[in-house]
Amino acid sequence: MDRTYNFNPGPAALPLEVLEQGRDSFVEYGGQGMSLMEMSHRSKPVEGMIAETERLLLELIGLEDAGYRVLFMSGGASAQFALLAMNLLAAGKAGRYVLSGSFAEKAYEEALTVGAAEVLASGKGTGWARLPNLEAALTGLTEGDTAYAHVTTNNTIEGSQFKTFPDTGGIPLIGDMTSDILSRQIDWTRFAMFYAGAQKNLGPAGVTAVVIREDLLAASAKANANAKVPVIFRYATYASNNSLYNTPPVHSIYMMKLMLEWTKRQGGVAAMEARSAEKAALLYEAIDGSGGFYGGIVEKPDRSAMNATWRLPDESLEKAFVQEAQAAGFAGLAGHRSVGGIRASIYNGVPVEACRALAAFMDDFRNRRG
Ligand code: PLP
Repeated sequence: MDRTYNFNPGPAALPLEVLEQGRDSFVEYGGQGMSLMEMSHRSKPVEGMIAETERLLLELIGLEDAGYRVLFMSGGASAQFALLAMNLLAAGKAGRYVLSGSFAEKAYEEALTVGAAEVLASGKGTGWARLPNLEAALTGLTEGDTAYAHVTTNNTIEGSQFKTFPDTGGIPLIGDMTSDILSRQIDWTRFAMFYAGAQKNLGPAGVTAVVIREDLLAASAKANANAKVPVIFRYATYASNNSLYNTPPVHSIYMMKLMLEWTKRQGGVAAMEARSAEKAALLYEAIDGSGGFYGGIVEKPDRSAMNATWRLPDESLEKAFVQEAQAAGFAGLAGHRSVGGIRASIYNGVPVEACRALAAFMDDFRNRRG
């Protein structure tokens, strides 16, 4: 089968190896005479599979013995926008948000439906072309009136990415890492909690990984606001039941396990970071070397290594670019409707070769149409 060069923003490209492994164990799993999907979620093989997925994720980010748990939850990253506020807001304290793109804004707006939420800094005035200064936004917060600070580490729609994360001391820092988890080495311990919908770097859609430090988990279990949180929506419920309080999306978790094993085989997060840098450089060089034909949407220091966004001189050329690219075997390049232009999402499952081919296509298109 010829594989399309897949630049979809999520659900997104997965490595062929992972898909083939998933296919091979789809009908018959581990010599049980049945598919994983036919087994009780409380059976030994499923319990073991979920525990191993948690362990692998923590191992890949070097947090295996650092007092963090992984919860496997449903409802996508969007559900976390509400759930984290429900679990972590406490009387007299606000959740404080850094707005760096439209998902960050959604997280903030959802928290407002639950309780007190405040904006620390916003890049909206620049049309999300520039990131707010994280260091400045996160210093000077006081534990007395701040339940947590929230940041979206990579802005999927706009194509910007924070590079470093300051020490917030006693204030729990929460990260939405949906579109860049496992793509680079960062100081994960800066975060008291981070979460990611699986459908970019962790596998297919259907499950969200919530990585949470034990002390925050314990605090959430007794946060005063929490008395009103239904049992099924409490982080503590997922932790104490190893994500098996109700029936979890077993197959999605299994595919995440395969994706994590693949990531480990490639050389782990360090290898993903090197590969991401190479892929992003190919595209940004094609943009910057185009004599102004392609124009990056985000300012250079803030550019994302996961979602590259750019514009062409006019919308009709952008339309032609997407159409011709599609015909040439490149999928998913239209920018988000709120931004326009072009977006190439280059998550861990996208091979370097796809970016090399796209850069060559960009040069060719410019030569013909520029
Ligand atoms: N946050 C970020 C950074 C995202 O990129 C997305 C989806 O693309 C979401 C949240 C929403 O995720 P979901 O569709 O899993 O709710």
